[in-house]
Amino acid sequence: MVKVGIPRALSYYRYFPFWKSLLEGLGAEVVVSRHTGKHLLEDGVRHCVDDICVPVKLFYGHVLDLVDKVDYLFISRLVSVEKGEGDTYTCPKLIGLPDMIKSSLSGLPPIIDFVVDVQNMPLKSSAKRLAGSFGVTGARAKRALGGALEVERLYQAELLNGVPPEEAIEAVLSNGGGNGSGSRAGPERTGGGDLNIALVGHEYLVFDPFISNNLPRKLERLGANVSFITQVPSAVVEEELARYPGISWSYEKELLGAASHFLSRDDIDGVMLVIGFACGPDSIISEIITREVRTEKSPPLMTLVLDEHTGEAGVATRVEAFVDLIRRSRTRTTAPDPN
Ligand code: SF4
Repeated sequence: MVKVGIPRALSYYRYFPFWKSLLEGLGAEVVVSRHTGKHLLEDGVRHCVDDICVPVKLFYGHVLDLVDKVDYLFISRLVSVEKGEGDTYTCPKLIGLPDMIKSSLSGLPPIIDFVVDVQNMPLKSSAKRLAGSFGVTGARAKRALGGALEVERLYQAELLNGVPPEEAIEAVLSNGGGNGSGSRAGPERTGGGDLNIALVGHEYLVFDPFISNNLPRKLERLGANVSFITQVPSAVVEEELARYPGISWSYEKELLGAASHFLSRDDIDGVMLVIGFACGPDSIISEIITREVRTEKSPPLMTLVLDEHTGEAGVATRVEAFVDLIRRSRTRTTAPDPN
């Protein structure tokens, strides 16, 4: 059986169940790279240009982890992921990812360059093209796509319920597809903490425990119930975005809409914006969130910038200070007036 490797980085957190199901439906065996660790990150950093964001450096490390284990590497080229009225794109690095990898790493297995460009070509056509390259056509190709779309639907339902991606992936792929309503209750219901904190950042930063220094768990240990952008329905994001027109980056629009939603909720005590160092789109969006979305009535907002040098102690100190600040400001506002 042909072995196809999928790096556990970047769009893995969004589309892995879909890709795995599709590739297996076409007769391939899917191999995923190991979880991020020190050596894997160092490998990525060594082979990548300096002035690029840490998620791309990490992606390099995950690609290198698969090199000797697979017959093909599956790398998506995410050009456009939504079909709206205006032109929308993803970040330039996600559009050129297969080219970047090909041009800077040698000795790689052949790359399956899977193009997602829904503004110009339905996803169905990309999948059909992929099926053709495996020699699969007709009803079998259709079945593979149908199965993958169903897995994707279940995965999105799990995420919407607050299940972190790795657990949601496990649920939909190992348990025969989860139940479509969340395999475990979301953090807001299980944390039992006295604070509600929203984490706004790309999944590949927030949910990679190594690069985020276990940020969600850290917050939970400090007594916070953590909410993620994956829990904000797309209709809510769209509604929020009506106030901030003109943004063309699809994934950054999600960050903006989710931040706007969380910053206006009475039950949210604090919002942490998690961005990658050297990320162009995020640096602009974080400025818009800080200057235009946040108001005097908003809960405290903190920006955490992550890169390969971010140490555990640095993140822990900032997170503890943020939680402490929220608790102190709550005590002040709820204390009885001595007069
Ligand atoms: S959006 Fe930012 S963090 Fe993500 S790949 Fe692009 S530059 Fe890197």
